[in-house]
Amino acid sequence: MTIKIDKVAGKSGIAIMGGTFDPIHNGHLRTAVEVLERYQYSELRLIPCFQPVHKGRPGVTPQQRLDMVRLAISSHKNLKVDCREIKREGPSYSIDTLRDIRADIGPDEPLIMVLGMDSFLYLSTWHDWQSLIEYAHILVVSRPGWEPDLISELSAFCENYRAFSSHELQCAPSGRVWFETLTPLDISSSMIRALVHKHESIAYLLPEPVQRYIEQHQLYR
Ligand code: ATP
Ligand code: MG
Repeated sequence: MTIKIDKVAGKSGIAIMGGTFDPIHNGHLRTAVEVLERYQYSELRLIPCFQPVHKGRPGVTPQQRLDMVRLAISSHKNLKVDCREIKREGPSYSIDTLRDIRADIGPDEPLIMVLGMDSFLYLSTWHDWQSLIEYAHILVVSRPGWEPDLISELSAFCENYRAFSSHELQCAPSGRVWFETLTPLDISSSMIRALVHKHESIAYLLPEPVQRYIEQHQLYR
């Protein structure tokens, strides 16, 4: 029923944003909201990983990271959380997640994987990276401090798949890359962890309920 209403309102496409969310912060959230508004996708799902493949094991549990994502998005109707990577356990490979979601939503629905520029620059180190584009579009969003200096493998990939307009990401289920500049917010999870560790304030870098959760559970001390 919801899907029908969204279609009537001209919305289509499911955007997904994977991450460690250790913890989730306003850089993630503002990105999610701007992407949703700009493209009118029907929803954006945040997908916390169980075990990041390219960085060390987080100091807090997957359940705590998931709790914080839930607290952060509770008041936003079109932001959702998808816990499939946490349920799957083991190293969280995006290709497995995309295959899984594609099987759920069927072959025709546009699926848009949102990546910050910092993540995109390392795409060619991801497991089976060339196959990602068969299952989803890739929407690369700006991140302060990261320029699009693409290594040759990645620039060839962009030449092959780059869309001529962002509209193409809503007309086909997968297969296009698009770059978007969003409001720059120079916030990172590592910065928040470091501030907590130094007993400095993290106010206004992340939603208040998440800040309270970190204090209550004495995370990142
Ligand atoms: P850490 O500092 O631990 O590396 P992080 O802040 O980079 O954490 P992640 O959970 O690794 O956060 O990021 C998940 C996704 O969100 C990635 O695609 C990343 O590029 C993007 N992202 C994170 N912070 C921002 C930001 N401030 N602006 C735009 N994109 C962001
Ligand atoms: Mg990072």
